[in-house]
Amino acid sequence: MRNQNTGTTALDDAVYKDVVVVGNGPSGMMLSYLLAGNVPYYTGQPHPADEMLTARLRSSATGGSLLDQDLQFLSQGLEGRSRSPVSLLADMLLHPCADMGLDYPSLLEWRHEPFLQVDHVVLGKGPPGGVWQMMDGNVLTISLGSWMELPDFPFRQWEAIHTAGGPQHFRNSRVPARSVARYYSDYVQAKKLGRFFRNSAVVTAITPLEPQSPSSACKNQSEVSGPEVRARWRIDGYDATSSVTFSYVCRDVVLATGGHDVPNMLHVPGELENPSWVMHNLSQLEKVLDTIAANQGMCRCRNGTARGAQCDPVVIVGAGLSAADAVIAARFRGLPVVHVFRSRTPQFSGRQLPEDMYPEYHKVHQMMNDRGRSYRLYTALAEHKVLEITSDRKVRLQSPDGKVVVCTASVVAVLIGSRPNLSILPPELNLAGDSSRPVDCHANPVQVELFSYAAVRAPEGMYAMGPLVGDNFVRFIQGGTLAVATDIHKNSSRKEEMIL
Ligand SMILES: Cc1cc2nc3c(=O)[nH]c(=O)nc-3n(C[C@H](O)[C@H](O)[C@H](O)COP(=O)(O)OP(=O)(O)OC[C@H]3O[C@@H](n4cnc5c(N)ncnc54)[C@H](O)[C@@H]3O)c2cc1C
Repeated sequence: MRNQNTGTTALDDAVYKDVVVVGNGPSGMMLSYLLAGNVPYYTGQPHPADEMLTARLRSSATGGSLLDQDLQFLSQGLEGRSRSPVSLLADMLLHPCADMGLDYPSLLEWRHEPFLQVDHVVLGKGPPGGVWQMMDGNVLTISLGSWMELPDFPFRQWEAIHTAGGPQHFRNSRVPARSVARYYSDYVQAKKLGRFFRNSAVVTAITPLEPQSPSSACKNQSEVSGPEVRARWRIDGYDATSSVTFSYVCRDVVLATGGHDVPNMLHVPGELENPSWVMHNLSQLEKVLDTIAANQGMCRCRNGTARGAQCDPVVIVGAGLSAADAVIAARFRGLPVVHVFRSRTPQFSGRQLPEDMYPEYHKVHQMMNDRGRSYRLYTALAEHKVLEITSDRKVRLQSPDGKVVVCTASVVAVLIGSRPNLSILPPELNLAGDSSRPVDCHANPVQVELFSYAAVRAPEGMYAMGPLVGDNFVRFIQGGTLAVATDIHKNSSRKEEMIL
């Protein structure tokens, strides 16, 4: 049956697409750009620091695009900050010598080749941009601004136009999450990708379909390529605004759902019973802190007491960068902080973050190690464990010597990391490298083929990318995009050859 509005073919109530991408963050956006028929070509310029790479690029580039090249050959021997060879390759082409602090132009140019467009849809719960649309806009990126950019849309040029009159960020600087979120929204518009995006679309289930035999589905040769035979996956979900359900069937499904959908929990009594003042999310915390600070401001105006003296402390649990952001947010508003963490000498990834670029994190690190002795309105409780949070806002903690300490909180922020939500897959489909444990973006990512990003433990036609496979930074996600797009194109042309 032909759907007149979309030009796609429906099976039962399901719409057929060659590719369905689940997740509309940077991963889904980059992949959509390639699947829309935008193709990277090597410019022919030498790589400034890697003669061998230049030689490999020159020997393979016979006028073809990068999607036609052997990615394994091109990425031979590359080393850097990612474990994925194809991520290193893409990074060296897009940001040559970035780790040396140098700023060379990209060695890739993009051409629009409409005949390479793949019929696809990108589904995402919220607006395009993924986790960046949910973050507190004031938080600065860990990466430099230009490392957050998506293909063929230079961040600095965009920034120069869109923040005219506002603060300009230099090459060696981080940028507020607010700018990144806006840049990602603009990307979809500027690159005319909107027609491929279905936002506010919550996927509830991804199911492998039984293989259909050509003879049972179709009678003649021309129908062998029809969707009845090609569909390998079914994707079900609902529209978050209208609650209307939808279904797609597709040949290939790409998991680009990110790694931050489910906050980690302490699993202590009281943690979930009081959501208005016990939270697991930095942007929600910021809003509550604004209210507390506003109330404190009123107190000070009336009776002149020092800001913060009137309110119970903000209890922050966790030793990572989000917990550090929470400490900064509370102190910025003059609110007292009790900072609870398990380690004796916290390190967060601070060791890899140079002090001149990340002074705020180094400051928090210093405060944690100093145990807050030298800092007003800040108390660090190292090696403490939360036992319980009671409804009268008491947090019961256990100190390293086993004593129980009780602290009254105005608000509690539990910021101890997050993990992906892959409950949309059938329970028997555990894609992790160690399939006896759940997927963890750092310790146990989805296992994929190195040069196609096809999920090793899934039936044919499933890919994964981004933090799910351990590519945690936008800079390194681009390699996965290239691998997936290359494989999808190769498989499409192989099938077309078979049909001919
Ligand atoms: C606080 C924080 C700071 C960070 N700072 C940096 C940084 O400075 N530099 C950097 O490069 N990276 C940073 N990252 C890492 C970040 O993961 C990547 O930048 C990037 O967002 C990953 O892109 P993604 O598209 O794979 O995942 P995401 O951005 O997480 O997007 C995935 C999207 O899929 C959606 N989704 C999930 N499940 C479903 C479903 N069932 N149905 C529909 N949609 C679904 C999610 O809602 C989300 O919108 C940071 C992450 C966090 C949390």
